[in-house]
Amino acid sequence: MDKETPESCPNCGSELNRSILSQNLLLGELKTRFINVFAKKNKDGYCGICALKALPDANRNYKYMSERVFGAYKNYLSSIPILTIENPDKWEYEILGVVTARTFIVGNEESMKKGEDQCFFKIREAANSLNGNAIIGVSIVYGLQVMTVYGTAINVLNEDVFSEEYKIAKRKYKDLKESRDLLEEFKKIRK
Ligand SMILES: [Zn+2]
Repeated sequence: MDKETPESCPNCGSELNRSILSQNLLLGELKTRFINVFAKKNKDGYCGICALKALPDANRNYKYMSERVFGAYKNYLSSIPILTIENPDKWEYEILGVVTARTFIVGNEESMKKGEDQCFFKIREAANSLNGNAIIGVSIVYGLQVMTVYGTAINVLNEDVFSEEYKIAKRKYKDLKESRDLLEEFKKIRK
């Protein structure tokens, strides 16, 4: 049997109404939970009237949380070591596979630096998605208006050889696991 539908909104008390002309319905389960989680409330339901305020409040906090998580993600990624050498001293690692990135450049210093940053970000993302934490044997190849960067993603088992900066950035990102899961859960209603 369906859950009994209340006659008024559990949050603002407005009368609920199914008729087309003065329709006021409760939000679905997912949006209700979204408001409770992100607008830090705890009600059984929200109607079309109070959702006009509650949804933007929740959206604002969702955006704030996703900016914080993305900031920590970028910070962590940029601390992933990229090395041109093949076999760093004292690193014990397993090889995961080749990572590549390519971008368009024009022939000035600024564009090359920007292209390099973009490509490094992309190969670090690729390494991270292979569960890697470093890239070795990195080469940059310049073609006509194109820059290609490639290397080998590895998983370093003795991370104690890494810098403090890396360890702090990684911990900060991993500590946001709960936030990342929440953002993931509500991704579809944000579209
Ligand atoms: Zn309401």
